[in-house]
Amino acid sequence: MRLIPTLVLPMLLVANGVAEDHGHDPAPAPKPPAAANKPAPAADPHAAPPGSEPAGQGLDAKRALERLMQGNQRFVIDVMNKSHKDADRRTEVAKGQHPIAIVVCCSDSRVPPEQLFDVGLGDIFVVRTAGNVIDAIGLGSIEYAVAHLHAPLIVVMGHERCGAVTAAISGETAPGHVLAITDKIQDNLIGTEPAKGDPVDQAMRINAKAVARQIAESVPILRPQVASGALGVVAVRYDLDDGKVELIP
Ligand SMILES: [Zn+2]
Repeated sequence: MRLIPTLVLPMLLVANGVAEDHGHDPAPAPKPPAAANKPAPAADPHAAPPGSEPAGQGLDAKRALERLMQGNQRFVIDVMNKSHKDADRRTEVAKGQHPIAIVVCCSDSRVPPEQLFDVGLGDIFVVRTAGNVIDAIGLGSIEYAVAHLHAPLIVVMGHERCGAVTAAISGETAPGHVLAITDKIQDNLIGTEPAKGDPVDQAMRINAKAVARQIAESVPILRPQVASGALGVVAVRYDLDDGKVELIP
């Protein structure tokens, strides 16, 4: 098998339907959602016509992650390519989209996923919120990309020195609707071990993994996809200083 060890282990862990730190066997996958037995929905207006680029651009979760990581390596050494960033690609994806991954990341202006993964138009389906937390609307967005666009991979990306995480662990009550974000992050930190090293970085990692777990276990759409191996979910950390994306173990 042509596996890249550093990429595959977390993938397999989440591909089994549970995060790696649960300490018990995966619960049996629920039956397919009732919706699966219903007649096929009306034609997806975003779907490509028959004969065009296949779902996920022909990549499974492992290959999609490899492609993103290769793009990040180009970004790190500042040799990004022009692929999928020109007018031809614009014309191509105007007919339909087949993103290779869904990226859930922070709204922080320093972490635009298309750039740091060196991908172009139609390549990734992005859900961004401060602190890369997820709610019902975010899950619905992800479900759409999985069920209708057949993206094979979900990447939850936290980042170094995240302001939302910093606010969440500051001990202060956030103002206005920011409170909804810090509450989410704080919920994701409940019951976790006291931080070792940089507390913001540790909390960011825990938060990203928790969000990945919430996505992987979401029913009725996502969990069966993960359990079947059709969908991979990973958590990664982006380093603001050197531009590197690394898997969070
Ligand atoms: Zn952030």
